[in-house]
Amino acid sequence: MRKICLFGATGSIGKSCIDIVTQFPDKFSFTILSAHSDIDALFELTKRYRPQTVVFSGVLEKSRWVTDFRALGVELLVGPNALESVASEAEYDVLVNAIVGAAGLKSTLRAIERGKNIALANKETLVTAGELVMHLAKENNVAIIPIDSEHSALWQCLVGERPQDIERIILTASGGPFREKPKSFFREVTVEQALNHPNWDMGAKITIDSATLMNKGLEVIEAYWLFGVKLEQIAVVIHPQSIIHSMVEFVDSSIKAQMGLPDMRVPIQYALSYPHRLPNKLPRLDFTKYNSLTFFEPDTIKFRCLQLAFDSLAVGGTAAAVLNAANEESVWAFLDKKIRFDQIPVLIEDALANHSNHKAATLENVLYSDQWAREFVQRKI
Ligand code: NDP
Ligand code: MG
Repeated sequence: MRKICLFGATGSIGKSCIDIVTQFPDKFSFTILSAHSDIDALFELTKRYRPQTVVFSGVLEKSRWVTDFRALGVELLVGPNALESVASEAEYDVLVNAIVGAAGLKSTLRAIERGKNIALANKETLVTAGELVMHLAKENNVAIIPIDSEHSALWQCLVGERPQDIERIILTASGGPFREKPKSFFREVTVEQALNHPNWDMGAKITIDSATLMNKGLEVIEAYWLFGVKLEQIAVVIHPQSIIHSMVEFVDSSIKAQMGLPDMRVPIQYALSYPHRLPNKLPRLDFTKYNSLTFFEPDTIKFRCLQLAFDSLAVGGTAAAVLNAANEESVWAFLDKKIRFDQIPVLIEDALANHSNHKAATLENVLYSDQWAREFVQRKI
């Protein structure tokens, strides 16, 4: 039985993870669950799964919840620091980090320090502090197993392969809802239009990231750290059907692709069952229903965010932490209808241009740059 600590249980990835765990009650169980704003959902999950500990990382409005959870025999810890203390002290085998944003970083570091394997959906952790995270993981002999579908695809393609045999990795991108729209349209994009992703049903932040193509930019940085390749070895190709989840090209010109229907439960299950596979009843891909898979070059002039991500990786140091934090603040501001869709890349670029880079991406420098970028963007808004 693998004991799972699931951070972000009430989100899109969290729910899919719960679905998988429910299908394999003899293989997986939850010992810890967390939520940030949805205390009612956390309470329902607690009744059903009876973890040992639950964390509510947001602000608890009614203190009676502590008694309500205790009546279920479950300890409720409150506040953002509770994630870190649980990651450091509680009993579990693997941390599934499904928190959104760089808020997931510190608890991931604590779990790695204890030698716990990480099933990582929270890509912002690697974007913000990839060097630090991968270094610590190596030191503690920890596997960072990606849940992000593209990286799970790459991970699966690389099983049994030697790093030196990789020529390049090819990340596929759906292109989002505005792939065929002219740039002039971006000025008028509404929140509702941007939240309407053609292939995936995801949380609000990543859905906006997919519409700006920042999601692919974050994934380029995520892949860079996860797979230890050079920046020039990472390519992005638009593939609107989202059937091929990503590919690896090898030095002998052979290419491996991992495919399937777009369903996050597949990479989540693989991250939990790795290095084995478990039989499931998830919908199967019928090739006869997809008689054409298409591929295009991404337009980095129209989708400036993708270019900014490549540029931050080239600059190095704390640039990616600034890119990520400026993006988070801009996306939440767009969702709150405080800025326009086309202002997102402008704010990020402005933050990057004004940031004094710390070449050494220590935790202190990363956290400082993250905070600086958030305040910079807030002031501009
Ligand atoms: P959601 O917004 O659906 O869920 C986010 C989860 O994190 C919720 O449980 C939320 O709690 C919690 N949370 C929000 N803010 C904080 C915070 N400041 N501190 C601690 N917990 C917080 O997001 P997704 O599930 O879509 O995405 C989660 C992560 O997975 C992101 O990094 C995303 O990029 C990545 N990912 C997602 C994919 C998807 O298909 N959804 C695909 C690939 C990667 P509450 O609900 O209680 O507020
Ligand atoms: Mg992805």
